[in-house]
Amino acid sequence: MKLTRGHEPGAPSEVRDATFTGAVSSDPVIAGIDGVTVNTVMFPPGARTHWHRHDRGQLLFVTHGRGYVGTRAGEVDTIGPGDVVWFAPDEEHWHGAGPDTWMSHVAISLGGHAWLDELADDDFAAAIAGV
Ligand code: MN
Repeated sequence: MKLTRGHEPGAPSEVRDATFTGAVSSDPVIAGIDGVTVNTVMFPPGARTHWHRHDRGQLLFVTHGRGYVGTRAGEVDTIGPGDVVWFAPDEEHWHGAGPDTWMSHVAISLGGHAWLDELADDDFAAAIAGV
């Protein structure tokens, strides 16, 4: 058994801006599990991931605020505390905050991942319009 108190001792939190729009903070929850990456991720208003995919899928447990998820197939939905999202292996998607709301989730990522193109401001606005 391994137990952490919500943060992997000695592992740095990071502000990630290369593969995200906005200053997104990622805090490692637990490390050393083969093929599994667990992070608490905090998105300020308007922040979101670039398009990406996970080799073996990803689970999101939304813990705070209000945000959105979208897939290349055109699915878009709101997310809030208590919501759980599963992205299937290699399903291209993005996740992030609302335009004026914070959103935090715990992300359990399985296998590797590939970062793709940015979700441009216009495309983000169009995706969430009317959702
Ligand atoms: Mn993802």
